[in-house]
Amino acid sequence: MNDYEILDDRFGKLIIGHAKLERLWTGSRWAEGPVYVPSAKHLLWSDIPNDRLLRYDETDGSVGVFETPCNNHNGHALDREGRVVACEHGGRRISRLEHDGGWQALVENIGGKRFNSPNDVVVKSDGTVWFSDPTYGIESHYEGKIARSEVDGSHVYRFDEASGEVSTIITDRVQPNGLAFSPDETILYVSDTGASHVPGLPCAIHAYELADSGSSVRARGVFAECAAGMFDGFRVDRDGNIWASSADSVRVYAPDGALIGRVLVPELVSNVCFGGPKRNRLYITAQTSLYAIYVNAHPAGSGPVAGDISR
Ligand code: MG
Repeated sequence: MNDYEILDDRFGKLIIGHAKLERLWTGSRWAEGPVYVPSAKHLLWSDIPNDRLLRYDETDGSVGVFETPCNNHNGHALDREGRVVACEHGGRRISRLEHDGGWQALVENIGGKRFNSPNDVVVKSDGTVWFSDPTYGIESHYEGKIARSEVDGSHVYRFDEASGEVSTIITDRVQPNGLAFSPDETILYVSDTGASHVPGLPCAIHAYELADSGSSVRARGVFAECAAGMFDGFRVDRDGNIWASSADSVRVYAPDGALIGRVLVPELVSNVCFGGPKRNRLYITAQTSLYAIYVNAHPAGSGPVAGDISR
């Protein structure tokens, strides 16, 4: 018995047949936002309702609290200097963990209006910070603080630290959530979990083509629809496959949008992240727990890593 469902030969090449899903830790109320920090040999992830950031230490497998309270962090990403960039539900902003250990606000409003509750973030290779801004963190005190929306919807934004400019990039989603670039950064993928507010709305990942030297996008349509629950967060590997969360598994899609396989997980999956010294360990945040499984894939944007002789 293994922890995979292989639907296409292409998926067979991405997995280790006898690798097992490991539950590394349990005890959160809602786990999300994993980010692997190579220099620290640890994984950080959010336990949003408990307002804490947790840390899995790869050297000894221990888990501890990295930061609490933390303004109800949700999604995280690494920037080009290896600093952690965070979405704060409670702070309604994007912040960054500086080299001196302090959190610095990166972007807090657009035109003086506060964001809803930034959910997920990705840093492009040019340093610009792209993030989604649905309303989940201002609708209750469970994942943030009840507050009124100040902006005119739930959008995706782009922040250019060099110019200080923040711009609205995507306005045609109901509740934009996870986001990631294709390996060549010509496509931005965005999941929409708007079915939480609009019953019957298809739960899909949408593709957007970058335009105007990466300062805007053009909609390309639906990339994939989710057959179990919703796509929340997801990651792209360096061959362009998408590893996406869903209610019962991590669903893996080839660049052409075909569902090629699943990693079966016994809880609601919220997000995934590649980590480990060779970046071939798929960390999975799922409801109350942190899981991991070794795979034969590596994240987009990963250059040569320790032990990696293929590139
Ligand atoms: Mg999310």
